[in-house]
Amino acid sequence: MMKQALEELVKTDVPSERLDQLTELVEIDLTNLDPGVKRHLLKQQLEMFQVEEGLYAIGTGISDEVVDELMEGSIDTHVHGGSEPFERRELEDDIAIDCTRAKMKAVVIKNWYHPSASKIALLQKAADNWAEANQLNPVQVFGGITLNNSVGGLNPEAVIRCLGFPGFKYVWMPTTDSHYHQSNILNRKKHTGIKYLSEKGQVVHQMKEILHVIADNNLVLASGFYPYRETAPLMEEAKRTGVKRMELIHPTLMHTKHTLAEMKELTQEGVKIGLTGIASVNARFIEGIRSVFKIIRELSDYMVLGSSSGQIQNPTHIEGMKWMIRVLLSYGITKEEVTKIFKTNPAAHLGIN
Ligand SMILES: [Zn+2]
Repeated sequence: MMKQALEELVKTDVPSERLDQLTELVEIDLTNLDPGVKRHLLKQQLEMFQVEEGLYAIGTGISDEVVDELMEGSIDTHVHGGSEPFERRELEDDIAIDCTRAKMKAVVIKNWYHPSASKIALLQKAADNWAEANQLNPVQVFGGITLNNSVGGLNPEAVIRCLGFPGFKYVWMPTTDSHYHQSNILNRKKHTGIKYLSEKGQVVHQMKEILHVIADNNLVLASGFYPYRETAPLMEEAKRTGVKRMELIHPTLMHTKHTLAEMKELTQEGVKIGLTGIASVNARFIEGIRSVFKIIRELSDYMVLGSSSGQIQNPTHIEGMKWMIRVLLSYGITKEEVTKIFKTNPAAHLGIN
């Protein structure tokens, strides 16, 4: 009954009279603000107030025990560690120990500029030692390679070399070195950056070679900083090549934005959707946090937790995950849905038990 009331609140739009009234009353310091934009900003704020007001009245009943129980056995497929030529929140060994303490089952470490796979043995050793000293089970640590320019971009040899590393699981498409990111998000000189599609929209030769390596070794192909029109042909080609594990990374964020309809299309091709927890503020979710709940409602069977945590402005990985569980449950996402996204689906996706 109470849950229903909350779900109604989450669904309900703000009445336009209230919005008219507020648009007139609230002064905003942003200059040259288009009235439509002002109205939209206030609408998002008011929606959140409406939901929060409902929450305070209903009470969430989410205890630390409930959060800890959902953390136990969870798997995160996308965590950023500090071994980068720029700041991140924590080094990877501390992340592995934190995950062990929280009784997580597995964590995938992602680095942008060198293969995280190359140091999984070290991280696993840190987790194992800490677990033994504290009589817990160690988290399983996995890594991969991100095909940015520092590893030669679309370089099959770099991927093949990684096959010798224990815990090698992921091949991520280019992130900051993607042509889409370089020209549209960072506004650098046009026509720079990595493209895996030809002018005619075909997957280029080196990329096809890499897809074969991924397929033959049952690795995960994860998307990069590209829009749907470039993600979809790659995933289709991957499927044709025999790749079984595919993942779309943080599709709600601007630089990797996919619509719900596009996400659905991809799930039909066998692609898993990564649920990001980036920035424990709503700012990075372009369509507001309610859009995330809508995606979960429709696609939880195909979603895996890919928090993408590790940025310096964000909480630590574990704090961020606990925050996310609390937010999801508070806004009416069920424990069953959280369990699917945090535990069952990623275990199947990574092929671990
Ligand atoms: Zn990331």
